[in-house]
Amino acid sequence: MTTALIIGGGVAGPVAAMALQKAGIEPRVFEAYDKSAEGIGANLVLAVNGRSALLELGITTALDAGFDIPYNRYFMGSGRRLSKVANGKQLDDGTVSRAVKRGDLYGALRDEALRRDIHVEFGMRFIGAENTADGVVARFENGTEVHGDLLIGADGLHSTVRTIIDPNAPKPRYGRLINTGGYARDISVPGEPGTEFMYLGKRCFFCYIHHPNGEIWWYAAPSWPNEPSREELASITREDWRAHLCELFAKDNTPAVDIIKATPEIWAPWPINDLPTVPRWSNGRMLLIGDSVHAVSPTAGQGASMAIEDSLVLGKCLRDIPDIPEAMATFERIRRPRVEKVVSFGRRAGDLLIVGSQARRRARDLLMPLFFKRIALNEAAALSWVYDHRIPWDEPISPQPAPA
Ligand SMILES: Cc1cc2nc3c(=O)[nH]c(=O)nc-3n(C[C@H](O)[C@H](O)[C@H](O)COP(=O)(O)OP(=O)(O)OC[C@H]3O[C@@H](n4cnc5c(N)ncnc54)[C@H](O)[C@@H]3O)c2cc1C
Repeated sequence: MTTALIIGGGVAGPVAAMALQKAGIEPRVFEAYDKSAEGIGANLVLAVNGRSALLELGITTALDAGFDIPYNRYFMGSGRRLSKVANGKQLDDGTVSRAVKRGDLYGALRDEALRRDIHVEFGMRFIGAENTADGVVARFENGTEVHGDLLIGADGLHSTVRTIIDPNAPKPRYGRLINTGGYARDISVPGEPGTEFMYLGKRCFFCYIHHPNGEIWWYAAPSWPNEPSREELASITREDWRAHLCELFAKDNTPAVDIIKATPEIWAPWPINDLPTVPRWSNGRMLLIGDSVHAVSPTAGQGASMAIEDSLVLGKCLRDIPDIPEAMATFERIRRPRVEKVVSFGRRAGDLLIVGSQARRRARDLLMPLFFKRIALNEAAALSWVYDHRIPWDEPISPQPAPA
């Protein structure tokens, strides 16, 4: 049986493992960290296209810890309403986009992979690999070497596999924004569950959603012109950071300040990055998927969905195309145009959140209402290419020729 070594046990790793297993390949997942991230950290909204891809693999429990978010509402910082749009079209069985903590999603995907008897090893930090005459050998920090027929890099934004495939591979691109957020408790704020409330504030973007348990999940994206170092961000105390955020939202007519004050622990900020074009997706029998090869800015709400879609397409390619490098090349030809378009969509969405000079802000305040009016009028068509993408498992794939 063909054996695939999968580096990374985040989103792409376990889902690819389940797709490969369905395709008749033996997957082995290697994750650098311990299995202990459940329930902690930031959250994400898994869009309907990602959920649909999970359903193709029969993965139904991964989002049990989350809750549905079928709508987005947009406002200016003044409180002026811009529009209400669907967060992707509902699937025939009623499935809609769903919010979940990243740690819970990771934990549930890994548990589902283990339930399917997939080999998952924790505490295995990948450090290097070579193509051999008939396969690959992967090396880990603890001195272990593992042989396989192919290697899949699903090791995220700061991928080590990417630099093994191509030492000159590009590094993540900074989006001139940082990200923070938290979970507020014991506070009542306007709005209904099932909707993301997004505010284009005078000095910063703010978003919140109501958890059915009464918590308010929120995040903010302060503009930060130059990429901050880890040390710079670590030097800001939690209380200074809270005070800074309250100041950023002080002049807005939104619940942001009350929500921030009602948050016991605000996440330390981190930079927003993406990865637009990676020239080499594969080398011999090694291939990249997910954030390791096309990280999407969180402003698109599509990174996890792209990782899941990748996994499904890769499973189909390896199922239907016996030659492994040919299957990898076909995977790239199918996926590259879509993921690069989504990365670019995320970048443009992020650019809208950057608050620059006063002139830029004035222009934004004039243009935004028109922009959102257009989106509301033409909502389904405007974003259907993102949300309506479907990948039926049973539809066969044949090798695709290289573009002329
Ligand atoms: C704050 C934030 C909000 C987001 N919001 C959304 C959203 O709303 N919707 C959405 O769809 N996406 C969102 N995303 C993006 C989404 O989280 C990612 O696109 C998705 O997790 C990518 O999955 P992945 O498996 O490719 O990478 P990751 O989830 O990053 O997983 C990579 C895994 O590889 C492991 N690893 C790394 N290096 C090694 C190594 N050397 N050896 C072994 N293992 C290694 C890591 O520990 C990790 O478990 C958000 C991201 C962030 C940061």
